[in-house]
Amino acid sequence: MADNAAESTNNKHRDVLESTQRVVQSALQKLGYPEEVYELLKEPVRLMTVRIPVRMDDGSTKIFTGYRAQHNDAVGPTKGGVRFHPEVSENEVKALSIWMSLKAGIVDLPYGGGKGGIICDPREMSFRELEGVSRGYVRAISQIVGPTKDIPAPDVMTNSQIMAWMMDEYSRMDEFNNPGFITGKPIVLGGSHGRETATAKGVTICLKEAAKKRDISIEGARVVIQGFGNAGSYLAKFMHEAGAKVIGISDAYGALHDPDGLDIDYLLDRRDSFGTVTNLFKSTISNQELLELDCDILVPAAVENQITKDNAHNIKAQIVIEAANGPTTFEATKILTERGILIVPDVLASAGGVTVSYFEWVQNNQGFYWTEQEVEERLEKVMLKGFQNVYQTAQTRRVDMRLAAYMVGVRKMAEASRFRGWI
Ligand code: NAD
Repeated sequence: MADNAAESTNNKHRDVLESTQRVVQSALQKLGYPEEVYELLKEPVRLMTVRIPVRMDDGSTKIFTGYRAQHNDAVGPTKGGVRFHPEVSENEVKALSIWMSLKAGIVDLPYGGGKGGIICDPREMSFRELEGVSRGYVRAISQIVGPTKDIPAPDVMTNSQIMAWMMDEYSRMDEFNNPGFITGKPIVLGGSHGRETATAKGVTICLKEAAKKRDISIEGARVVIQGFGNAGSYLAKFMHEAGAKVIGISDAYGALHDPDGLDIDYLLDRRDSFGTVTNLFKSTISNQELLELDCDILVPAAVENQITKDNAHNIKAQIVIEAANGPTTFEATKILTERGILIVPDVLASAGGVTVSYFEWVQNNQGFYWTEQEVEERLEKVMLKGFQNVYQTAQTRRVDMRLAAYMVGVRKMAEASRFRGWI
């Protein structure tokens, strides 16, 4: 039964992987690379599947399935988050690792992309069971990860505590303290200032740049955000502080709408650690209704496949900023672009997280730590350069922002693979 569910999730994610591969192929063709470059880059160079036995609180042993995908390590070690979710699948992890390579290329980090995930539901697990899964995963993948090989980080439903357990497990195996093994750690264990808010800060920088391109003033702009977790809730805070009107937010259970602007401070105060807040309200709308609200800027910041060919015609925003990974399908991208809506793609908009993760790794390697202000100034420079690069490419090559981002992102690893003599 469980195996059937995993297989059906994997099939569902095949579309996500295939859409990604299609855009990678178009980007390589536009850049004039031969077909064998695509053959190398269409799949991760390495994919590990692991089975993790964990003693549960009731005394039984449960076997969890996990994955680690390493897309391309021509530029440097691979890097990317570990996701804990019931719907993790092999195809999803593969696609996410490709996106991480593209992000690293866009913001010019010395990394390739990696991604991991475990099929589990942390909302139904105790603290002790979560620790067991986290430590078991690190033991299972220890041969292929490490500070110079592949550096994990947090992702959906994983956090700094989980990173701390993973770092501790790796350090025990290595017999010395090894903070550069993983990023997104608590500050006291070598985490970086500014990591928790980095993704939302990066999205905010892209959002402000995109608004300038469309002559939209942030002051009073109507913003809708899907997802109220790490990315979505901090973005709501930054938008609110910048004078925008956040008129809609959502979580997995529903959405809230107020055309006059929601009370963001109250919502931030009441959300739980999984980004849930709508359960406190009687009058909610659905996530689908949220996406179709009349607004200036729409930010999907939850899960994949939210804007599809079925609702793309009903999106009313002028700008869509993808804080989530893969929220817009291939067909929907075409529809939105034809309708003149500016899409700032995930591989650019959400690159702030991996950028500050890189800063954390640099600080761990040098053993010298930066202030929050130093981190933010460096992040802003990196994101602005990434945005301008992608926007310019879109203008000069007359392609949409997603294809432009893939062209910018794929070039560095294609070149590095060529110089190494792989292709
Ligand atoms: P999170 O787990 O902190 O929050 C996810 C939010 O989405 C929660 O509010 C949850 O209730 C909501 N959600 C879950 N399923 C949903 C559904 N089916 N419909 C609507 N809402 C749903 O996750 P996060 O870290 O904020 O990540 C959100 C997205 O941003 C993911 O796609 C993630 O890959 C991407 N991202 C995050 C980071 C980061 O540093 N956090 C970096 C890059 C990309």
